[in-house]
Amino acid sequence: MIFQGVPVSMGVAIGQVAKPKLELLNVGRDHIEDPEHQIERFEKALVASKRQLERLINSLRADERLTELKIVESQQMMLDDTTLLEGVKDHIRRLCCTAEYAVSEIVDHFVGTFAGFEDEYLRERVGDVHDMGERLIRNLMGKREPFLAGMDKQAIIVVHDLPPSAAAQIDPQKVLGLATDVGGMTSHTAIISRALEIPAVVGLSNLSRRAEEGDTLILDGRKGIAILEPAPELLKKYRRIQKEERAKLKSLAKLRNLPSETSDGFTIELAANIELLSEVDAVRAYGAQGVGLYRSEFLFLNREDLPSEGEQYEAYSVVARQLAPQPVVIRTVDIGGDKFLSHPEVPVEINPYLGCRAIRFSLKKPDTFKVQLRAILRASATGNVRLMFPMVSSLEELREAKEIVEECKAELDSEGKSYDDGIEVGIMVEVPSVAVMADQFAREVDFFSIGTNDLIQYTLAVDRGNPAISDLYQPFHPAVLRLLRTIVEAGHSAGIWVGLCGEMGANPLAVPFLVGLGIDELSVSPVNVPVVKATLRAISFREAAELAAELVNLPTAEAIHRCLHDALPEEVRRFVELDPVVT
Ligand code: PEP
Ligand code: MG
Repeated sequence: MIFQGVPVSMGVAIGQVAKPKLELLNVGRDHIEDPEHQIERFEKALVASKRQLERLINSLRADERLTELKIVESQQMMLDDTTLLEGVKDHIRRLCCTAEYAVSEIVDHFVGTFAGFEDEYLRERVGDVHDMGERLIRNLMGKREPFLAGMDKQAIIVVHDLPPSAAAQIDPQKVLGLATDVGGMTSHTAIISRALEIPAVVGLSNLSRRAEEGDTLILDGRKGIAILEPAPELLKKYRRIQKEERAKLKSLAKLRNLPSETSDGFTIELAANIELLSEVDAVRAYGAQGVGLYRSEFLFLNREDLPSEGEQYEAYSVVARQLAPQPVVIRTVDIGGDKFLSHPEVPVEINPYLGCRAIRFSLKKPDTFKVQLRAILRASATGNVRLMFPMVSSLEELREAKEIVEECKAELDSEGKSYDDGIEVGIMVEVPSVAVMADQFAREVDFFSIGTNDLIQYTLAVDRGNPAISDLYQPFHPAVLRLLRTIVEAGHSAGIWVGLCGEMGANPLAVPFLVGLGIDELSVSPVNVPVVKATLRAISFREAAELAAELVNLPTAEAIHRCLHDALPEEVRRFVELDPVVT
């Protein structure tokens, strides 16, 4: 039985299911006569809870488990929060209720507040508040700490949700993988499993109800699937993949601090694509040199209002400050296509990929656009921010957008607010009209970043998200390769740098071609940075340039693919994504 979820931590786990039981803490609303006695009980439980967390903190610090340490420290801080403490005491006095009941009520109120936050990261902190409340109640009831502490053999944890305190107790020697029914990229299961490098998949809907203790489970943290009681052939196939994956990860980890250059010294900037603030840690962990694409639209999704200038400024400047002096390319919103605002006034389009998307949306809403531009400009005061427009298709659009940037700069000047006056302004090259006219565009921007995800779909007229025609979505189509050459050459003739931030850049097969064209920067998901670096370091620029010149003259994607495969050095061939296993 196969379950599809969200992959949050790479790797493949194979093992038996362990289903730690969560004890239900039943808290009733009993009337009590002596509220002061309940307050005394609450204060004792508070001291006990702090002591437990202190012990956990000491052991996490000793093991240098810094991610979990931060989580547990934040729970410890919550226990000092006067709104919480006074809220509980006040509740006990007013309602003449037990301390357990008051804690559960006040914690529920806090949970409601956190759940209403717009920021995904803050919303996910609901788990911490809950967890802290449960700890207090357990101590009031005199119950012991539950969960993973006593796991006696290696297993894959399958659970509906994983409380943060339980996640912090995970022993990576015992826990082979983590599978939860709920959760997202920034849930604690995700953060901790990535930090401990344990394969994890979240959002598996009802896996925890179907899986029984001791069942065999394959957890594929690359593809986000869980296979319960797999057939013997599949198990065999996955054991092979697991072995290869382990060897791959081990050799890649060694590259973290090595330069991204070819064997004959051609250097490229190897950056990362991010959507969320919380990914900054991953950018550093995988050794990327800054951010080549910050998809700012993720600040705008799943909400009915628009983020204010202040909120945006905060988000952009946190990333810029944390990564300075490394560059951070902030792309203005790419709303439309497959990413929509929840706002009721945004019309539904029949053909959104060809509709009012990205820069088209921004130019139609200049006030909203200006709020974002002002926030980006103000964040640029750190000196390492670059500004980028998505889905430009004509020079008029580019000029209009640049004029609005100048207006914003003038406003900030008159308000005495600082920004980087020399901020580089570039465009995504992802519409064929721009690729064809790249020489003209190159005179009016500071850089190009090629968005192959869209450039391929628009060049080949193949919807990038339609599985029924995914075989027609061919990154190595000769027309795509020729356009890439045109763009890089046009950029270099005009003296600007050219990067690439589509998924194609993460494919080891594509790297020699792109290097051969002389690409200046590649930006890929943080986890893919080491594979690209490994490929880069295994090839020579001279050979790559010869290969690129040969490839653009081949007639079909198949011929190009074959040629690229043959040219790939043996040591990186094993990094090429293995064929999907589940059919
Ligand atoms: C692209 O189109 O290649 C790109 C990087 O942007 P997105 O995937 O956000 O459209
Ligand atoms: Mg795009």
